[in-house]
Amino acid sequence: MSADKNKNTKSKDGNLKNTKSVKKFIQKRKTIDPNTLFNQLAKGDRIALAKAITVIESSRSEDHEVAQNLISKSLLKAVPAFRIGITGPPGVGKSTFIESIGKHILKNRKKLAVLTIDPTSQVSKGSVLGDKTRMQDLSTIKNVFIRPSAAGDTLGGVARKTRETITLCEAAGYDTIIVETVGVGQSEIAVHSMVDAFCLLLMPGGGDELQGIKRGVVEMADLIAINKADEDRIELAKQSRSAFKNAIHFYPPNENGWGTKVMTCSGLNDKGVDEIWKELQKYFDHNTKTGYLKKRRTSQSKFWLHETIINNLKNSFYTDPHITKVLLDLENKVIEGKISPFQAAESLIKLARHK
Ligand code: GDP
Repeated sequence: MSADKNKNTKSKDGNLKNTKSVKKFIQKRKTIDPNTLFNQLAKGDRIALAKAITVIESSRSEDHEVAQNLISKSLLKAVPAFRIGITGPPGVGKSTFIESIGKHILKNRKKLAVLTIDPTSQVSKGSVLGDKTRMQDLSTIKNVFIRPSAAGDTLGGVARKTRETITLCEAAGYDTIIVETVGVGQSEIAVHSMVDAFCLLLMPGGGDELQGIKRGVVEMADLIAINKADEDRIELAKQSRSAFKNAIHFYPPNENGWGTKVMTCSGLNDKGVDEIWKELQKYFDHNTKTGYLKKRRTSQSKFWLHETIINNLKNSFYTDPHITKVLLDLENKVIEGKISPFQAAESLIKLARHK
């Protein structure tokens, strides 16, 4: 193993972004040869994978073409992995749980990638997920690749980068991918739209709203785990499990005919975690056999296609200097009651169409 590789596997936060080789690469990347980089990535080279992700995360226009090239090649090579989304409020024990379930996953599967989306990093420029030393055990395992939150100004941008990172990981032979996010905003919806199974972690005691989780997120979950169900809190955890079971009973049935399970676990003590992994595998097998998995992935691809079109159109509309100027004028007219908001919108859209 080369010195650089050693450095990566030992990286405490598992952040391959910060290694010397990747840093050098960022400075010198005018000379990137996408073919060489892709071939290395396809052989499972972790450094090449980290470099490729850096390229797709880049906002530099000169990297755009290389990124497109890498994605196209990866799409041809990628074998879809089992993609698992994990969400929950800050402090519920997500990273501890991932450390624990990751080891069970590796008993059945070959390679695990853990990607994180941290919406708080865009708002505060700090981050809830990234500042801690996370998943120390997993980050030292050779077949595990951990990539902290993609940077970006908008959630849509971060989601795109994460989805493309999934493709790169799949091309690099990762057969299981965990996408983790803090369940405090819109990022859960984005993650739900890119995974095969969506797992919500909650704490014993207190309903979803008390824990800062929106009702819709509970509805989206394919599996709910009441974490921190340690010895002394097992009764409370069981009560929470019953309460959530009752609550989801009133939701419309899942399209795939699968009843959402509510389970208890302790990520810290590795209790109940293997059972959760087994349940997730059952869910994956059920969806594969019934054809629901294919259907879900197809509708996710369509969702992202339309999302991207809408976002791009919106962006080019609102950043057009002429439109912005006329918009300001129309806004005043709407405020003064001289024109209705609908008339104003229509005339602006007409203007944009004829440009
Ligand atoms: P995250 O913010 O959701 O990723 O949460 P962390 O995994 O960083 O855990 C937050 C805190 O909860 C840490 O101090 C963990 O040691 C603790 N913790 C995580 N899982 C458990 C558990 O199963 N039981 C108990 N008692 N504490 C836990």
